Amino acid sequence: MITLRSYLKGDWREGSGDVATLVNPATEEPIGTASTKGLDLAGAVDHARKNGGPALRAMTFAERGERLKKLSKALYEIRDSLIEASILNSGTTRSDAKFDIDGATGTLAYYASLGEKLGARRTLVDGEGEALTRSPRFWGVHVKTPRLGVAVHVNAFNFPAWGLAEKAAVALLAGVPVVTKPATATALLAFRAMERIVQSEVLPDGALQMVCGGAGDLLAHLGPQDVLSFTGSGSTGAHLRGLRNVIERSVRVNVEADSLNAAVLGDDVAPGSDTYQMFVRDVAREVTQKTGQKCTATRRVFVPRALIDRVQADLAERLAEIKIGDPSLDEVRMGPVATAQQLADVRAGIGVLIDSGARAVWGSATDVKPIGVSAGKGYFVGPVLLRADQPREARAVHEHEVFGPVVTLMPHEGAQDAAELVGLGEGGLVASAYSDDRAVVETLVLGMAPFSGRVLIGSAKIAEQAISPGTVLPSCVHGGPGRAGAGEELGGLRGLDFYMQRTALQGDRAFLDKLG
Ligand code: NAP
Repeated sequence: MITLRSYLKGDWREGSGDVATLVNPATEEPIGTASTKGLDLAGAVDHARKNGGPALRAMTFAERGERLKKLSKALYEIRDSLIEASILNSGTTRSDAKFDIDGATGTLAYYASLGEKLGARRTLVDGEGEALTRSPRFWGVHVKTPRLGVAVHVNAFNFPAWGLAEKAAVALLAGVPVVTKPATATALLAFRAMERIVQSEVLPDGALQMVCGGAGDLLAHLGPQDVLSFTGSGSTGAHLRGLRNVIERSVRVNVEADSLNAAVLGDDVAPGSDTYQMFVRDVAREVTQKTGQKCTATRRVFVPRALIDRVQADLAERLAEIKIGDPSLDEVRMGPVATAQQLADVRAGIGVLIDSGARAVWGSATDVKPIGVSAGKGYFVGPVLLRADQPREARAVHEHEVFGPVVTLMPHEGAQDAAELVGLGEGGLVASAYSDDRAVVETLVLGMAPFSGRVLIGSAKIAEQAISPGTVLPSCVHGGPGRAGAGEELGGLRGLDFYMQRTALQGDRAFLDKLG
């Protein structure tokens, strides 16, 4: 059994009592414990503000970028042991573990390169300046400076490595110290990554601290210069947004929450064509990668009514190829879901969708025979393909996120109808449109973009090169309106805005031109 400790105020600290047990989801065996009871979380917040912040702000963007580059390398050096931690505690296959871990090191490296490009400066200038009166001397310009507080990052269970790194990379580059909190149930991977980060001595004291276990009173200490970035369920996000000090002290909050991501097949696409194959390949991958526990996984699929039987058969054929079982085995393509609660939620969620008018047309959430696992053990669920022939009537399909390998196939009556159906999800992280017809793409993009943080347009010309829609790239924004939390992260330099204050400076142009 491993005792996960928190890294606070420059040291590893162990909580007492109220211990949470971490388990191996493939075997249900306990592997570790975590507790934050009795830890001085107010002191950690203070330590970040007093030590980490000033040390980071004393560095230029290039110097901070240099640190991120070293962190990326330090984590890459222990990639194999991080993969083992992911398999053990998150039940990921090797390939799913790499998706999380390489996403972490890749995002750190990406922001390191942005730091290098920004060079020896400590503030950012936002846009062009302009004369404020008829005099060319009285000038106005917008600048961005790092906030003087702490960034608290609360992460979801499904990406322990990427969640830690993608948020920390942006905050640290902006010059803001971080207290990061992985979800307790799958915290082992983040804990191992943090051990390496501490050992590397790359960051100044107080720049990055980690809370392993419950959040305790951490958020109660946040004030007007601090930010809270949360990833997790919509209900927890709503609760955190409503915390008294968060409201009264105007703590800046970013929420990345639930999402009923959609894929649309245009009615110009012929079955068997390159675009069609890309669509089927992407949907099958999105349903099963990380056992469907991706915030960006495809949950709803809209296809021309005339093609729905064909798509159903082709998707079923793909899903049938997926071998389920012990995630450490090479032949296994899909491991268990992460916790007993997740398993119960997925099974219950399928029931909710069926009660709402969907029907199961392929697969089963209960009848699974995982390879290499003791009978009756592990939180396994097979891929499940549902179908709703009256998509507007099956409301829960657009409202209830089943966080597992479950997708609902539905017919549309053309591009405009498909875009409206996507909108029934009331805001998502990513939508994808597969078409080679410009008019169809234009209708879909105009209809879907207001509901989406990101839109992937799949077509024959990029069928071989494109990455499937569930992959979050640091250069593109991540987040979505409405149900998805109305947040925004990453997107290259755009991500830094959350951690910086934009201020309009007014004065003598000669002075202002020299600032920054
Ligand atoms: P969750 O239950 O909401 O937990 C998320 C995080 O919030 C965990 O670290 C949890 O800590 C913490 N937390 C819970 N209650 C809290 C409280 N009262 N005060 C402070 N922290 C609190 O979500 P989850 O089950 O981990 O994640 C699944 C959900 O996340 C799905 O709905 C998925 O769509 C969403 N998600 C969204 C994105 C995105 O980018 N939009 C990415 C990944 C996941 P403990 O673990 O210690 O309870």
